[in-house]
Amino acid sequence: MAPSRRERTPRGGAEPSVRIRGAIKAYGDRRALDGLDLELRAGEWTGLIGPNGAGKTTCMMAIAGLVPLDAGEVEVEGRNLRGPRAKAVGWVPQDLALYTQLSGLENLRTFGTFHGVRGAQRRRRIEWALEWTGLAARAKDRVATYSGGMQRRLNIACAVLHRPRTLLLDEPTVGVDPQARERIFSMLGQLKDDGVALLHSSHELGDIESSCDRLIILDRGRELASGTVSEIIRSTVGEGARLKLQLTGVGGLDAIESALATSAPGLRRGAGGHFEADLDNVVTDLPALLSGVSDAGAEISGLDLRTPGLQDVFLQLTGRGLRE
Ligand code: ATP
Repeated sequence: MAPSRRERTPRGGAEPSVRIRGAIKAYGDRRALDGLDLELRAGEWTGLIGPNGAGKTTCMMAIAGLVPLDAGEVEVEGRNLRGPRAKAVGWVPQDLALYTQLSGLENLRTFGTFHGVRGAQRRRRIEWALEWTGLAARAKDRVATYSGGMQRRLNIACAVLHRPRTLLLDEPTVGVDPQARERIFSMLGQLKDDGVALLHSSHELGDIESSCDRLIILDRGRELASGTVSEIIRSTVGEGARLKLQLTGVGGLDAIESALATSAPGLRRGAGGHFEADLDNVVTDLPALLSGVSDAGAEISGLDLRTPGLQDVFLQLTGRGLRE
């Protein structure tokens, strides 16, 4: 159930909901944030990805006002506040922040009160939250008896009872099954439709690719790239594709290779007995290559066409070396 009109978070204007400028945060001689700039906008779902130790959690904690910066500033709704910003932002930490010996309902009441939501408004919002999370039937059970997916959903609900205009989610789907994940994504989609600015960190690149409007790739406390997935792919690894073909024909692979040298020179023989080519433009290059294969008298027994995805971008920008 979507929140009633009265309960809805108002949409923001053109001003960013959150603006970080030149954020620096060091732990000893290690910089968790190293001159980070970032903007979040109302009704926009922003993904935050990066290797372990890239600074994602520190970035969110800085927005929530939970870690003081050494330099730089964080504005939330145009204001540069000191200390925790529990009213303006919702914070869903990576480690569940729930009272497991209390029921789901008692957790919602407690977090509601903590966020200053009381009386009839708290009752309405709890009723909404239980529907939104699909937890109404288990509301009076102790949280310790909930599945991981139920606990994750409750954790998110507790963070939004005060209707923050910015929601920070640090790996909110770790360890949940595909059904619970879908529910969480649909819950977050409703918040976005209601104008909430979402910042969502995850190592599940597929989730980020399919759900986020834009994303930020962070490493060593700095932004490496930002934009929509296709903008980032275009500006880094490019949109070309790699084609792999298994071919058969009279005379075997040697004969095919020499015929292709004339009819489809873009195809080269790979180490595994296949033929491969890099295509700058799939729509024009692929038909030409396939017709060259046919002219060479070869038959296609297998075809694999791979276009670059976020994983390729991620590895190109952040390298293959193990992190923390
Ligand atoms: P992960 O994907 O593993 O959750 P992350 O991108 O969220 O990583 P952060 O947790 O923000 O990264 O950590 C950034 C850097 O700051 C890391 O080198 C980390 O070890 C260090 N760091 C974070 N918090 C502290 C702390 N309280 N004390 C010392 N070092 C810290």
